[in-house]
Amino acid sequence: MCGLLFFGGNVNIDCLRHWSFATHKKSGTIFRKKFWTTRSNRVVFALLGQEPDNEEAWKTSHETRKPSEQQGNGDIIQEDMDSLINELSQRFEWPKQDPSAKKQASVDPILFHEPGFLKSHVYEDFIKENEQARKRSQVELSMDSDTFMRVFEEARKGWLSCPQCKGLAPPEEIEKWGWCSYCHAELDLKKSPADILYPRLEEEEEEQQKKKEKSNNKKESLQSSSKRVAVGQRAWNISCSQRALQTINPIRQLVQGMAVKPNPDKKLIPLSIGDPAAFGNLKVPREALKALSKVLTEDSAHGYSNSLGNELARSTIASKFSSRHHAVSKDEVILTCGTSGALEMVFNALCNPGDNVLVPRPGFPLFRTLLDNLGVEVRYYDLDPHRQWQIRLEQLPKLVDSRTAALVVNNPSNPCGSVFSYSHMMSIIEMAQRLCIPIVADEVYADMTFSGYQFFSFASLSEYVPILSVGSVSKMFVAPGWRLGWVVIHDRQGLLEKGNVIQGLQQLSMRMLVPSSPFQQILPTLFSDACKSDFRALMETLEDQAMFTVDSLSKIKGLSCPSPPQGSMYCMVQVDSQAMGFQDDKEFASQLLAEESVLVLPGQPCFQSPDFFRVVYCAPKAVLHEAFSRIRQFCDRHHKEKVF
Ligand SMILES: *Cc1c(COP(=O)(O)O)cnc(C)c1O
Repeated sequence: MCGLLFFGGNVNIDCLRHWSFATHKKSGTIFRKKFWTTRSNRVVFALLGQEPDNEEAWKTSHETRKPSEQQGNGDIIQEDMDSLINELSQRFEWPKQDPSAKKQASVDPILFHEPGFLKSHVYEDFIKENEQARKRSQVELSMDSDTFMRVFEEARKGWLSCPQCKGLAPPEEIEKWGWCSYCHAELDLKKSPADILYPRLEEEEEEQQKKKEKSNNKKESLQSSSKRVAVGQRAWNISCSQRALQTINPIRQLVQGMAVKPNPDKKLIPLSIGDPAAFGNLKVPREALKALSKVLTEDSAHGYSNSLGNELARSTIASKFSSRHHAVSKDEVILTCGTSGALEMVFNALCNPGDNVLVPRPGFPLFRTLLDNLGVEVRYYDLDPHRQWQIRLEQLPKLVDSRTAALVVNNPSNPCGSVFSYSHMMSIIEMAQRLCIPIVADEVYADMTFSGYQFFSFASLSEYVPILSVGSVSKMFVAPGWRLGWVVIHDRQGLLEKGNVIQGLQQLSMRMLVPSSPFQQILPTLFSDACKSDFRALMETLEDQAMFTVDSLSKIKGLSCPSPPQGSMYCMVQVDSQAMGFQDDKEFASQLLAEESVLVLPGQPCFQSPDFFRVVYCAPKAVLHEAFSRIRQFCDRHHKEKVF
């Protein structure tokens, strides 16, 4: 398999970071077809190109091109192309004159070096990624990256850096052209004081040194390069990946690691589990179960499905998430392993390591778990407990920077139980548009609202901002064990398409071939009229239990619900832990478990939200009744103890 080819004299190296395609305007289409395959870790990487040979032509090619277009500026010379193909053919025995056969040829990564300008920091990112790819695939680079870096270092000695964009260029070039070839800033070597155009090498070396020291401290650095060893010299050296060790689910960890045990004299009531099926009182729609048992007996139902998912199932989701203003096509739907799988896929497609994503606080902890795993920084924005948990929008501009990849919103909310109003959603979308960030909308509780509150999908309201909406049958249809979810792509302006995000999502879908294909086939039934009444009944039950929860808990001294639930299955309860002699919400929750065998999730460790705890009100009313009366006794008792 071959990978990517980059052409053009000054192909903007930024595109490498996204493993995407960048080709010369004229030749682009040709190469796109010839070398179209990016699924492999193996990368053929070529920078070729030819600067136009007179100043006029050079200037024109620069001036006609916006810096943001990220295109090559040079003309591809056919001889260059031919010699590259020749070289590839010789090294890797690609049949000549048969472009289609190239797809099957197995090739080691190879780097061709263009002695033009290179943005060094980006380049190093590429090298790092390439190192990882090399490690995984255990192949040797024909020109390995160490050699490449040596050549590159040698070549750029004495180069100068543009003060605006940090792009590096040889002084002769700058002198000749008078501007930066990356960002087109005017640069005048003679006029500019030395400190404007400064050689970056030493500074960078220092930085590199520091980085190296840091990573040396880690046991297994992701960047460490592999070395050839003789067979006899290999020794056992198995160690867990950093990625795995930085992947932590706070809820699971808290629950599994809780030091205290429930009171053995009282039956455990877990109001902690966000699983509507946990107590058996809420049920999967009957018709869906019938359809499932029928499908399971069919011989034809058990093969792989298309990696994007069964077509009929995708059409169902597409029409469900189409709105008056925008029709979704089935090709904009990808079926996933639950909402969790959908979130992972979306983050994976949007973010590189070192990017950051804005995430709600209080919020569903899986966002963080997935982002940590991908090496993406989590930046929290706050929800306001006294204004129906609306987003504190004024915080967002302070949180974004050039590496902000997405804004995550969750509506209706877990753990808050809130449902955003139409006007609040419009403000969120406006803000995202101002900041130019795509929205990842966790809409796993779509339509799960109580009377008086309406669910709007972000996609139906956003004309400009791209929305990746995720959801599943887990909560709506009480079937989290089915692991049946989806990503719906709303890209009305083609912004995701332009950045190859859709292609990336499609490629990611090919990793696992989930969800299980018989279950996919139930989606049309679930969203048909046959299941509507079951859904209504579910929501009536949940609403009734939500109101009962708020009524019962807000009467208890020390507890309050500043913004009662409007949907989903949760209620955030504020707790004055100190007034009862507890240090914080975590101690309150563990003591409640120890004395009353009622488990609620403390806000600080689970949702980054101190002085609250989350209650799931899915349990049958009688069970809720028992739990709340135990909580009441517990709170009363501890208020008294505190006083004495
Ligand atoms: C439950 C939940 C999920 C996970 O859904 P699955 O379909 O079980 O993966 C994702 N996001 C939120 C907000 C949830 O509450």
